Amino acid sequence: MEKTKRILITGASRGIGKATAIKLAQNGYEIIINYNSGKNQAIETLAEVKVFSSKSKILQFDIKNREECQKVISNDIDNNGIYYGIVLNAGIAKDNIFPTMEDKEWDDVIQTNLGGLYNVLKPIIMPMISNRIKGRIITLSSIAALSGNKGQVNYSAAKAGIIGATKSLALELAKRGITVNCVAPGIIETDMTKNIPTEDLKKIIPMKRIGKPEEIASLINYLLSEEASYITGQVISVNGGLYL
Ligand code: NAP
Repeated sequence: MEKTKRILITGASRGIGKATAIKLAQNGYEIIINYNSGKNQAIETLAEVKVFSSKSKILQFDIKNREECQKVISNDIDNNGIYYGIVLNAGIAKDNIFPTMEDKEWDDVIQTNLGGLYNVLKPIIMPMISNRIKGRIITLSSIAALSGNKGQVNYSAAKAGIIGATKSLALELAKRGITVNCVAPGIIETDMTKNIPTEDLKKIIPMKRIGKPEEIASLINYLLSEEASYITGQVISVNGGLYL
């Protein structure tokens, strides 16, 4: 594999994004670590990534801010080069049962998780196509999109939207050799799940344990590889056998 392949990972300062950044750096990719507000965590991640990939760097932007995404991403592409791959990993949850859900909880989750896909991909796709890059786009959905989850009407809707967008984009880009696939994690040990009482959950997970961020990272690593060049438009679950 060429050692110069650039990969943008949104939300790479912690959790699944961080594990993915480290895994991909170990495999020779140049990593662009995006975060929104956790600067110190992004700096710590960069230090770990640089051990394997010295040209890697941080690119701060808020995925829900369309103008900022356009400006910062286009500037990075113009000055430092086209991306080979994008991992649309950044996401948030603001759980509440629907009758008491607040407008802001709905809007923030939809605008970040689903709006973020549009905002981040828009400045990337045209340069990828015009430079004939046979690249890779990986989106992050969730088990909550596939089977629903109480208290997550907003999150499930956004994550189901990501699946639809993934499949349609895969069809549009297939003839150009660009693959678009979606990873749907089950319950993974990160900040997002730290307040969930996991003992009860473990009982209903067939494998009787919570997943590790590295177990998502390894699938993303495979989907980015040359070996995965004929896989597109797929949703692949990593969930220890759990269906809610
Ligand atoms: P996490 O530990 O909460 O980390 C979220 C990451 O996203 C952080 O790096 C955060 O950066 C970034 N982020 C949040 N809002 C952002 C914004 N507006 N702009 C740019 N970056 C932003 O989450 P995770 O558990 O690793 O989840 C990663 C992805 O997997 C998400 O899409 C999530 O929905 C999905 N997922 C997770 C699980 C799970 O069990 N953990 C299950 C299914 C799906 P800052 O700290 O700077 O905001």
